[in-house]
Amino acid sequence: MNILVINCGSSSLKFQLIDATDEKLIAKGLCERIGIEGSQLVYAPTGGEKVTAVTPMGDHTEAIRLVLEALTNEKNGVVKSLKEIGAVGHRIVHGGEKFASSTMITDEVIKAIEECNTLAPLHNPANLIGIDACKKLMPGTPMVAVFDTAFHQTMPEEAYMYAIPYKYYREYKVRRYGFHGTSHSYVSHRAAQLLGRNYEDLKIIVCHLGNGASISAIKNGKCVDTSMGLTPLEGLIMGTRSGDIDPAIIKFIADTEGKNIDEIMDVLNKESGVLGLSDGFSSDFRDLVDAYEKGEEASVRTMKVFAYHVAKYVGAYTAAMNGVDAICFTAGFGENSAFIRTLVCAYLGYLGIEIDEEANAKRGVEGIITTADSRTNVLAIPTNEELAIARETFALVK
Ligand code: ADP
Repeated sequence: MNILVINCGSSSLKFQLIDATDEKLIAKGLCERIGIEGSQLVYAPTGGEKVTAVTPMGDHTEAIRLVLEALTNEKNGVVKSLKEIGAVGHRIVHGGEKFASSTMITDEVIKAIEECNTLAPLHNPANLIGIDACKKLMPGTPMVAVFDTAFHQTMPEEAYMYAIPYKYYREYKVRRYGFHGTSHSYVSHRAAQLLGRNYEDLKIIVCHLGNGASISAIKNGKCVDTSMGLTPLEGLIMGTRSGDIDPAIIKFIADTEGKNIDEIMDVLNKESGVLGLSDGFSSDFRDLVDAYEKGEEASVRTMKVFAYHVAKYVGAYTAAMNGVDAICFTAGFGENSAFIRTLVCAYLGYLGIEIDEEANAKRGVEGIITTADSRTNVLAIPTNEELAIARETFALVK
């Protein structure tokens, strides 16, 4: 069965068509600048030529219509008709406490996702627009919602509660939710397979280091802690997000620069992280590693602070699980960069980690990067959130 995976943002839409039976990618692409001048569709059929078409897309329905046209197009389409698309899997950012697993999309589910909008005002409404557009264009095709937050719903209360007045939890459900759940789940399962061990017997830490970054602790098959919180702003240092800071800094900036709360949230979400630390040099880890290797001061500082924070979380999660069997690196930076894995592991001597330099040097390849003598296993595992969404969708509709 072919599954269309849709990841809808406020002005963009990424898609993949995956054959769930053999898990092969059939085509992928993205729509950018939806509802803005200069919108374009990038369409890449597997084994075929990648095409970029600048074409107006007034809204998400129009964008999905163009995606479906590209997939069924006589010239370079990959299916004869929409009947060959068996189901649609939608990535939904926030499922609140309502969704601890993926679910078939019904009118009640749509309502429940809408009720989570206050928790993710930028993301969930865009995800819902994607669902609505598919409902219009592919009536009768089953659809599944796969939540970024669901995997983390197993966290115990001591991990998800904030020490602020309890009424904020009771009345508004303010708590840690965590994100990137599909990635943390996919990578931790792959780690168990690569180690030839039972998932339920392991203590695993997953470091998802991309433009957005988060880390999770998975004990005996269940997520017990993760670094992102009510929103994706908390935790590790990211491309442009600050991660953990003293909340009083918000008042300090307001008082010294006269900024209002929205302006300060923009500073913390868009101007901070490694971009801020490097004094505006770059939010892109590749640029920072290149400059680090040339000894440029701002990038050396930035990478040291970044790696130290990751290592500190690994220590905390080792304590949370009373040990760790495997530490996994994934996402753009984690899965591709031997440099960052080495920098983080340099702090973890107490775990008896011995890096296998040759294995670590391979880029974007799945595998164990520690020697046979290493007391703790370290793995590099390219994440594949779309495949994980296709699997979840297939499991519910087949
Ligand atoms: P997101 O999905 O959150 O936008 P990604 O997981 O795609 O982010 O990661 C993007 C980051 O990965 C970028 O900062 C990019 O520089 C970094 N990256 C990709 N390849 C490499 C590499 N070979 N070495 C270092 N960093 C890399």
